[in-house]
Amino acid sequence: MTTLYRRLPAVHRLLETPDLRAAVDCYGRPAVVDACRRALGELRSAAARGALGHAQLEAECADLPARVARTLGEAWRQPYAAVINATGVLLHTNLGRAPLAATMPEQLTGYLALEYELEEGRRGQRLAPLAERLCETLGTESAVMVNNNAAALALLLRAHADGRQVVVSRGQLIEIGGSFRLPDVMAAAGAHLTEVGCTNRTHLDDYRSALGDQTAAILVAHQSNYRVIGFTSEPPLEELARLAHEHDLPLLVDQGSGALHDLGRWGLPHEPTVSELLAAGADAVCFSGDKLLGGPQAGIVAGRARWVDPLARHPLFRALRPDKTTLVWMDRVLAAHHAGRFEDIPLYALLGVSQPVLRRRARRLARALLNSGVPATAVVTESTLGGGTTPGATLASWGIAVEGGPALAAALRTGAPPVVGTVRDGTLVLDLRAVFASQDRSLEAAVASAYRATQNRQAGGK
Ligand SMILES: *Cc1c(COP(=O)(O)O)cnc(C)c1O
Repeated sequence: MTTLYRRLPAVHRLLETPDLRAAVDCYGRPAVVDACRRALGELRSAAARGALGHAQLEAECADLPARVARTLGEAWRQPYAAVINATGVLLHTNLGRAPLAATMPEQLTGYLALEYELEEGRRGQRLAPLAERLCETLGTESAVMVNNNAAALALLLRAHADGRQVVVSRGQLIEIGGSFRLPDVMAAAGAHLTEVGCTNRTHLDDYRSALGDQTAAILVAHQSNYRVIGFTSEPPLEELARLAHEHDLPLLVDQGSGALHDLGRWGLPHEPTVSELLAAGADAVCFSGDKLLGGPQAGIVAGRARWVDPLARHPLFRALRPDKTTLVWMDRVLAAHHAGRFEDIPLYALLGVSQPVLRRRARRLARALLNSGVPATAVVTESTLGGGTTPGATLASWGIAVEGGPALAAALRTGAPPVVGTVRDGTLVLDLRAVFASQDRSLEAAVASAYRATQNRQAGGK
């Protein structure tokens, strides 16, 4: 037994191997030493149990550095790993919603005039340049940005309806993913909810009869992730605005999606844009920065100065204000919207890929995979915008179908790079709508390797 022990390499010898020298550079010496001690400990106890012969022990020792490096690699696997989104959902909240452009804005890698007046050489207003850009892009009087749309709505309500009533149609009491429930956000912001109308029909008179001394605002919320169809009715926004203004109340709109342009040009149903809502009489419209705007996570409020200006002065604003990263990225995205440079906004670049191009890519991918023995076929698919933007609407797309259900999907998710697809009726479907053309080769390699891994596992299991 003691002779077996003596064959175990010393930790400092292991650290000299190329595998573990690289591991030290990557994870630091203490972590690698620790992993080596643990691996040696396991071998020692296996040897003590008599579970290992000389030859086996030799082989285990030879493999030790590579095994330790692998274990460390798994334990330190990058969190928030970059994935290939083959779900066909462009704004996938679990996959980070809107993708950002490939190059980092230069001013984020150094210092920047974040709240500094270069001409005067003194402190400036952090939000002012972005607010100006927002007003210009949206054609509105005033704008404010905070961390996300939930915060934007909460700030609006807190600033204008604290302890008072806000009238909302029963058809709009939405819950969206990630624990956003309109009634709960309202309560947390200190506003009292006055529900009016019915789930499918609410009339102007329902609103009218709910207005009283304690009413602070009328709120309209976008039915983000569902649709009420059939015998339905909601008063036009213009009429609601008129009613609100007759009572000197603001009409607030939680638009959610942040649509700035007519989606018809991308083959999608029209969503009321921020400008249209403002033109129809809304006093303040709030929306997400990382949905149809295609920017970083943020919440924007745009509208009339009377209702929007006070938000930036509210004490809560300091707790909700965006960081420099968001401000700089958002400014860049807004500039692209303003100039109509859609190809510079990755979301719109993906939306703009034509059917023939998607078909060609799907066919090439399927052919290449077939050549490496993977039963793949090009298929027509239906992609969606997602993110609670255009409920029920689909966008024709192409992808590949691969035989192999949940096991293959799991192997793909844990591969390098991870690929997220969907399984339909036992077939894995990888939709190309949200896959960048530059990712096609990695996608092909990832599918081939995941397919081989599942085949080997099946063969091993038999
Ligand atoms: C998405 C959405 C929200 C929440 O926006 P976040 O930016 O995720 O906080 C609120 N309201 C509506 C109508 C939405 O669609």
